[in-house]
Amino acid sequence: MCKKYDTVIGLEIHAELSTKTKAFCTCDASFGGDPNTHICPVCTGQPGALPVINHAAVEYAMRAGLALNCDINRYTRFDRKNYFYPDLPKAYQISQLDLPLCINGSLELSTGTVVRIHQIHLEEDAGKMVHDDYHGESWADYNRCSVPLIEIVTEPDIKSSEEAAEFVSKIALYLKYLNVCDAKMQEGSIRADVNVSLKPAGSSVLGDRAEIKNLNSFRSIQRAIESEIARQTEILEGGGKVVQETRRFDDATGTTSSLRSKENANDYRYFPEPDILAITFTEEDIEKAKSEIPLLPHQRVERYTKEYGLTDEDARVITLEKYLSDFYDRTVEIYPQYKNVANLFLTEIMRRVKDTDSEEVPISPKDFAKVVQMADKNTVNRNDAKSIIRIMFEEGGDPEEIAKANGFIVVEDTAAIAEVIDKLFAERPDLIEDYKNGKTNVFGFFMGQANRALTGKATPMSIKAYLEKKFSEL
Ligand code: ADP
Ligand code: ZN
Ligand code: MG
Repeated sequence: MCKKYDTVIGLEIHAELSTKTKAFCTCDASFGGDPNTHICPVCTGQPGALPVINHAAVEYAMRAGLALNCDINRYTRFDRKNYFYPDLPKAYQISQLDLPLCINGSLELSTGTVVRIHQIHLEEDAGKMVHDDYHGESWADYNRCSVPLIEIVTEPDIKSSEEAAEFVSKIALYLKYLNVCDAKMQEGSIRADVNVSLKPAGSSVLGDRAEIKNLNSFRSIQRAIESEIARQTEILEGGGKVVQETRRFDDATGTTSSLRSKENANDYRYFPEPDILAITFTEEDIEKAKSEIPLLPHQRVERYTKEYGLTDEDARVITLEKYLSDFYDRTVEIYPQYKNVANLFLTEIMRRVKDTDSEEVPISPKDFAKVVQMADKNTVNRNDAKSIIRIMFEEGGDPEEIAKANGFIVVEDTAAIAEVIDKLFAERPDLIEDYKNGKTNVFGFFMGQANRALTGKATPMSIKAYLEKKFSEL
């Protein structure tokens, strides 16, 4: 059966910028803190307090825009968006309406869909309400008030819930690589509003949409869209009309419910923010911002495959997390054996940090480089190199000390090699006979036995050399 409706999705993603101070005052912008300890007269909107723009926030937003292929407006201005809500003590939000910082960007998805970015603007966050249902009380924490945010608004180019989730996760990864947002969804530093509509398959006319507010995980984004598609399909199938409104997603039931009818720009009584000067950029400002953009994940993949000779798959896995890719980069700076570093990194390091939230590797790139080097030089054998990494993770310590303390250092004891192999030959004349009769695979048996008996005393390389010499003399 062919599909009756096409799904159309547009996203509005809010990302908190990781500047040290807030957007318009010098209060601490970091996450957490006791309630109402990161506040001042400016961010709580006391009469007469005047905002001053945080230039770092502007630079961060510009960097995000440039990395997402946006044009930068040479003249950009702030606007007041007025609304009344207890988490907003000023009763307005400083935002940008018609002259946003960045316009006309794009980002391509793995499906080939190119999602156009309508604009990226700079604004301030609101505070947080804490509801105590048990006592019937509500509390306001204004620490988040005026933390700088960027809002990334896409065109309605996204075609499925999977594409929407990929878009948000790609944006999150980019912002991390750009060092402009820590992208911790569990701390609310990235939130998405999703706009969903359906249209008859193939039609070029967009249908009426619903907007689902404030989704803060990839999973809830995907589930909310799926449930919204089902709801709208049912309405259209029944001959009804989708109402343009704002909805809320309930994680427990997996369904959306109406929050309020859709507000429009008029409801917010926007007007130019009179307390903040408009910003003009010169070409040099923009060139400078461009030159400061660090390598993005796909560019690191390209470097890893083209310059370092890694496989595409390995390069992708390493770059999936910025802190892992940074760790790999620092290791190969110290010890540029790209593939050998990648091999132990992919198995021994990634496996151990994969399921932790910490975003930190508990050992240093320098010590890791040392272990790879010891394995490469056969100072320790490969299995013992893995044990060293395990011990460093579990107990810490210097790799060379660990190797010595555990007897991992390989000494090429030529006398021991000769003794062990000569003894093996003497014990198994039957196999020697077999070898002479053309059964050359007995070589493997001797190799295995000798390796085991000589652990820590000789490298497989010298054991093999001695064995080959013995067999050639038969
Ligand atoms: P508003 O002015 O009501 O906020 P916008 O035109 O700014 O509307 O669009 C807000 C978001 O909704 C954008 O991400 C846009 O892509 C998306 N959008 C607009 N129309 C539709 C539609 N028919 N279906 C799905 N998404 C849409
Ligand atoms: Zn403040
Ligand atoms: Mg809008």
